[in-house]
Amino acid sequence: MQTAALLDLDIAAFCRQLESTGHGRAYVVTAADQTIAVSHPQLQVLAEWLQQANPDYLAHEGLFFEVGKQSGALFGAFVHGTRRGQSQGGLRFWPYPTVGDFLRDGLRLSLGMTRKNALAGIWWGGGKGLIARPPGDRHKDPAFRELVYREYGTFVTSLGGCYITAEDAGTWATDMSSVFATTRFTTCIPPALGGSGNPSPATAKGVVCAMEAALAHAGRGTLQGKKVAMQGLGNVATAMVGELVARGASVLACDISPERCADVQQRFADDPVEVRHVATTDLGIFAEPCDILAPNALGGVLNPTTIPMLATKIVCGAANNQLLHETRDAEALQQRDITYIPDFLCNRMGIVHCANEQYGRLSHDPAIERHFGREWENSVYVITTKTLEMAAREGLTTAAAAIRLADELAQVEHPIWGHRSRAIIDDLVASQWHTRR
Ligand code: NAD
Repeated sequence: MQTAALLDLDIAAFCRQLESTGHGRAYVVTAADQTIAVSHPQLQVLAEWLQQANPDYLAHEGLFFEVGKQSGALFGAFVHGTRRGQSQGGLRFWPYPTVGDFLRDGLRLSLGMTRKNALAGIWWGGGKGLIARPPGDRHKDPAFRELVYREYGTFVTSLGGCYITAEDAGTWATDMSSVFATTRFTTCIPPALGGSGNPSPATAKGVVCAMEAALAHAGRGTLQGKKVAMQGLGNVATAMVGELVARGASVLACDISPERCADVQQRFADDPVEVRHVATTDLGIFAEPCDILAPNALGGVLNPTTIPMLATKIVCGAANNQLLHETRDAEALQQRDITYIPDFLCNRMGIVHCANEQYGRLSHDPAIERHFGREWENSVYVITTKTLEMAAREGLTTAAAAIRLADELAQVEHPIWGHRSRAIIDDLVASQWHTRR
């Protein structure tokens, strides 16, 4: 099969191919000498695609695929870098038209998790889980969801702990109970089962720490008296409004949901908070004169349309993947002398909040609180400052500086377990994991 033919295959056809091997499982693994091993000869084209076209992706230690025995859904576990520890990243339940879409999303997101976890100074590598959502409405059926997530948990168990899953887009809190029913290799379990609960307030606080670092780096003081314009008034943004007004800032925020707008307006009726209900296509918030723009809704919002509109000197928000194109749009912001705080640097607290939940819970947990301080070398404030200093010193975009810093930190091995997940992956290959569904 040609590479294009494999990448253009729809998910159902790919699942039939995997089933036709007799195993319903497959892997692509990069050995220490950078050679790529595949479970089945049909996947050799994939190895070549990874090697030739995607230098960033080459670093992936392992990609694992399985077709759910009863659900027929396609599962993926993308293990990027595991020197700092087991690969960790959320489980996305999303409709993917083709195998190429499925692979690109998993590869990009798991690489991002290695960087996010390394910059956060936590002892986890980076990975990502995907379930390709079948067409139609089946995914809304609670019984089907339970089956899919239980099967996904079994899949994760089979990987021996080289990938630890978590919640992500399309996956709900109840789904995490189903995952937890069949694997111990998960975080973000419901609080009733010992999990850490809603991470949004912590995420909001982390982003605000990065705003403070950006203002200080620019010699513009604190948040007191500053105006923050915000796209989105969801879980993170609502908590962020509270953090900002407590620091003396004013907020202008917009959302497409009239309920969210009314709720926030009412909650902050006595504060300098203006709320606008907008249409999905309304880009007015990007042209709003402000000290900081906080994209808190969607990815891809920093692009050739919006960047020329910006009337701010700082962009710092919680939304994932804000740059539509990683280098082009980072450079466009730099050329406009706008300081962009990379999302994977400032929105870390979502994963940090649940990453270490198996170590127990404390109120005012120092393992969480140190991320918000200015003493610990990996706090949001300190790492943001380091990134901005490196970017200024070396003439890099802030995104490039954060990536360089993250990639250095990702090479540091776990202080107790070393590069153990590498050994787990080698063991999966040696023991013919793909034949054991
Ligand atoms: P959410 O779904 O609660 O909030 C998103 C809000 O954006 C919703 O209220 C929605 O109505 C609004 N919205 C959507 N399109 C819009 C548009 N065109 N204009 C204005 N508003 C629009 O999500 P959340 O948990 O608050 O997360 C927000 C972002 O932060 C997401 O990109 C998420 O991936 C990212 N993030 C969240 C966390 C976390 O802890 N929840 C952690 C890291 C990153």
